[in-house]
Amino acid sequence: MKRRDFVSGLALAAGVSACAADDDTAASTGKTSVETFAWNMVTAWPPGLPGLGVGAENLATRLEAATGGRLKIKVFAGGELVPALEVFDAVRNGTAQMGHDSAYYHRGKVAAAQYFTAVPFGLNANEMNAWLYYGGGIELWQELYSPFGLVPFPAGNTGVQMLGWFNKEILSIEDIAGLKMRIPGMGGEVMQRAGATQVTVPASEIFTSLQTGAVDAAEWVGPYNDIALGLHKAANYYYYPGFHEPGPNIECIVNKEAWNTLPDDLQEIIRNTCQAINMDILSEYMWGNAMALDQLQKDPNVELRELPQDVFNELRRHATAAIEELSEKDEWSARIEKSVFDFMKKSSAYQKVSELAYLNMRVNGV
Ligand code: CA
Repeated sequence: MKRRDFVSGLALAAGVSACAADDDTAASTGKTSVETFAWNMVTAWPPGLPGLGVGAENLATRLEAATGGRLKIKVFAGGELVPALEVFDAVRNGTAQMGHDSAYYHRGKVAAAQYFTAVPFGLNANEMNAWLYYGGGIELWQELYSPFGLVPFPAGNTGVQMLGWFNKEILSIEDIAGLKMRIPGMGGEVMQRAGATQVTVPASEIFTSLQTGAVDAAEWVGPYNDIALGLHKAANYYYYPGFHEPGPNIECIVNKEAWNTLPDDLQEIIRNTCQAINMDILSEYMWGNAMALDQLQKDPNVELRELPQDVFNELRRHATAAIEELSEKDEWSARIEKSVFDFMKKSSAYQKVSELAYLNMRVNGV
C-alpha cells in the first residue's frame, strides 16, 4: 500500500507540473505532445499474483505517473481479455497495445523466442541482463520480433527457479520416465527426451492439475509464487534447482503500430520504466523467495530435495542435444545460441572466481 500511495502521489505531482510545462516543452523540442493514449495490457498472470502479476500492474501505474497521465494502461490478468498463453497474438493483432508474459510461451510460433525467457542450463538473472543490455541481446530480440509487428523489452526476472513439486521421489533418471509434468519451454522438451510427458497449462490451472493427478509434477516459479498458488498443498517433494529456468527474463511487448504513434519522450519513458520494473521484479523475488522458503522449511509436509547429480547430468545431455538440433533447423536459434553461449563461456570463468567462489565460502564455509 505504501508504494501505491507513493506512486499516486507522484502521478499527482507529475500531472500538475506537466500542465505548467506543456507549452514550453512543446515549443523547445517539438517532440512532446499533450496527446493522451489509453492502452490495454494483456498478461499471462493470475490476477494479483505477487511478483509477475503485481509487477505488470506496477508497470502500468508507473507509466501513468511518469507520463503525467498521458499514457494510461488498463491491465488484464490472464484469461480476462484473452487466454493467458495468447498474449503474443493479442498484441500482434492489436487487441491490446501492450503485453506482459514469457517469450517461451510462443516458441511454437517463433522457436528462437525461448532464448528471451531461458534455455536449460543457460544464463542466470545477472548474466541474462548483462547479455540483453550489453551483449547485443535486445538488438537481436527486436530484430527477431520485428516481422511480427512487435517491439520487445526486458521487464522482469524471477532469478533461478525451483525444479518444482513432485508427488514421488526422483532417485534416478528412470523415475523421470512416465512422469506427466507441467513444464513449459525447452525444459519440458528435455524432460520429454528423458521419458516424461510435457504438459503446458497456465498458472491458474497448475494447482488443480497437480491435486487431481492430471499431472504428477509441476514447476511454476519458486517459493514466493508457489506458496501463493498453494502448490505445497498439492504435492510433497520440492526439488531444486530449476535447471530449466536459471534466470528467466519476462517480456513486455508493444504493438509496433501503436509504438510508432507515440512521441519520442513516451517511447523513452516506456523503455526506462520497463528497465526499472525489470530490476524491481527481480529484487522482489530475491526477497520474497527467501521469506517463503523459510516458511516452507517449517512445514512438516514439505520435503525439500536436490535432484541427484547423475540425473542432472543426463538431463544436461538431453538439453545440449535439444539446443543443437534446434540450431540445425532454425537459423535464428543458431544465431542467438552463438551469442548466448559465447558470452556464457566467458561469464562462467568469471562467475567461478566471483559469485560462485563467494557464495561457496559464505554458505558452505569452503
Ligand atoms: Ca517456471
